[in-house]
Amino acid sequence: MTKFLFVTGGVLSGIGKGAAAASVGKSFQFRGLEVDMIKIDPYLNVDPGTLNPIEHGEVFVTDEVWDFNPSEDSSFTIAEIDQDFGTYERFLDKTMHPRNNITSGQVYLSVLLQERAGSYLGRTVQIIPHITDEIKNRIREVAKRNSPDILISEIGGTVGDIEASPFLEAIRQLRLEEPDDRTALIHVTLVPYMETIGQLKTKPTQHSVKTLLSAGLQPDIIVGRSDRPLSKPAKEKISLYSNVPKEAVISDPRISVLYELPLLFEKQGLGDYLCDLLRIRARSPDYSHWENIVNEFEEADEKVRIAMPGKYTQILDSYISINKALKHSAAKLGAEIKIEFVDTEPFEKNPRKLKVLEDYDGVLLTPGFGTRGAEGMIKASRKTLSTDIPFLGICFGAQLLFIAFCRENGLKKANSTEVDPDTPHPVVDLLPEQREISKKGGTMRLGGQEILIKKGTKLYEAYGKERIIERFRHRYHLIPEFVEQMEENGLILSATDVEERIVNVVELEGDHWVVGVQFHPEFTSRPGSPNPVYLSFVEAALEHKRKQKKD
Ligand code: GLN
Repeated sequence: MTKFLFVTGGVLSGIGKGAAAASVGKSFQFRGLEVDMIKIDPYLNVDPGTLNPIEHGEVFVTDEVWDFNPSEDSSFTIAEIDQDFGTYERFLDKTMHPRNNITSGQVYLSVLLQERAGSYLGRTVQIIPHITDEIKNRIREVAKRNSPDILISEIGGTVGDIEASPFLEAIRQLRLEEPDDRTALIHVTLVPYMETIGQLKTKPTQHSVKTLLSAGLQPDIIVGRSDRPLSKPAKEKISLYSNVPKEAVISDPRISVLYELPLLFEKQGLGDYLCDLLRIRARSPDYSHWENIVNEFEEADEKVRIAMPGKYTQILDSYISINKALKHSAAKLGAEIKIEFVDTEPFEKNPRKLKVLEDYDGVLLTPGFGTRGAEGMIKASRKTLSTDIPFLGICFGAQLLFIAFCRENGLKKANSTEVDPDTPHPVVDLLPEQREISKKGGTMRLGGQEILIKKGTKLYEAYGKERIIERFRHRYHLIPEFVEQMEENGLILSATDVEERIVNVVELEGDHWVVGVQFHPEFTSRPGSPNPVYLSFVEAALEHKRKQKKD
């Protein structure tokens, strides 16, 4: 029988609720239990695929592609999901299914299309019970499909948000319908420290718990996020005002290695407390493997500096999985990585500024869309190609890297039709099947796809096998005829799809480590087992740095 654990957020969004929820999941894994997770996003988009990464952070791509059927005759492709899924996958070392990301858009769409189909004939369709029933069904379907011991559902946003209230109401009903020992609620809230009086303040937490109570929800556990460990008086005060036992107030302080959070929760007895609460009989926790992984992140002998020229340089969250993949790799290699975003727009006006790239041990060209910043990224690529700095291009980054290589080798006006529809040398263009598509949501080439790697390439060296699966999210691709043409100039086609129709990876011949991948290797990277492309890239960057030092 699956137990349901709900995680709500108080005071502010963006306080690390996803990492707290995943860390709770990890506590159960330490005890040999099967865990699954749901993320609820109260926005009205069907999925986050069309959201701006500056506003919303990264769009995560799942391995599986879900055919979402809100009614019998409608279907939507979903593989683009909330970035918290990346956190879940990295913490739990588990491949998440896109159906576990429930958005208000999906819920309302299902109810409205079913209304048109006549499913509610004669009845008034209402938030309660129809929307709330749909929410409960979605949650229970996930529980039924995989029968995990624990299903953790994280509710996005903050309690008190209008959009989130149907979800809180659905949880209230579900808790009422299930026996007491089958559900629990964790409230993750901010406990700010006031420098001027030297005190942790619990009032915002008290208020957010009150808001939760007014929705009919009493939390069982409070996780207090703060920049330092919660003091005893702060814990006592939270306990008193929130009506939870003292041992159920858990400290979630700022830590340098995020993966340490499950261990910190464990030290405070959270895992045992939850097992008692939910009457789960489990073996005693074994976290030695996780401890070893965390230790890798704490020991670093060398530093390596990576430049990330791109246009979404405003918030770190836009490239969160890339950051993580680089960090996983550096930790494996005993190094500490410093990632610096380099805004490419100034390169467009002033090419002399490109010189800054020479200071880095590696350059990573980021994914992206549209024209803004692209010319600067192409310039950054041409500059990097002229050095011996290791260079990795991801998706859009690989396309721009290829354009730069073409421009260096005779095709002066080479471009992508995404950037310049009238280019005389369209070396990157729409995939043939994309030409018919005008709708934007869920229509890219998405999800995990098989890739054939050629032996003897840098890519083969990285993976050590000829067939792999990685995740894609693109409409455009490198045009094979131009790749063939460039092979005469030292470019190597290192991987294709199984039909040998789509160029998946190109690289440079010789010693200079330059690889452009059409897929997103960052989505399969895990702490303790970094993705091979990232690992090879960071290794090459370290070698480059050591060589520079010697010279
Ligand atoms: N805009 C490019 C395409 O659609 C690259 C997409 C990406 O970087 N994810 O092919």
